[in-house]
Amino acid sequence: MKLDPCKFCGGAPGDPRDDQIEFDSWVASIDCTGCDITITMQYSVDSPLLARERISKLWNSKP
Ligand SMILES: [Zn+2]
Repeated sequence: MKLDPCKFCGGAPGDPRDDQIEFDSWVASIDCTGCDITITMQYSVDSPLLARERISKLWNSKP
């Protein structure tokens, strides 16, 4: 999924990252390379791919 530019500074976001915290839980996050914004969410999904997809959607939907 293509990520929109940062809503705060217009900078490029970094690649989504994911960390497994439990068998079926993942923490996904995206950092902005232009400012200090990071969004982080925990998801209970089947794969890190889904967690990254969701965090990407969240990034793109941020007002
Ligand atoms: Zn930014």
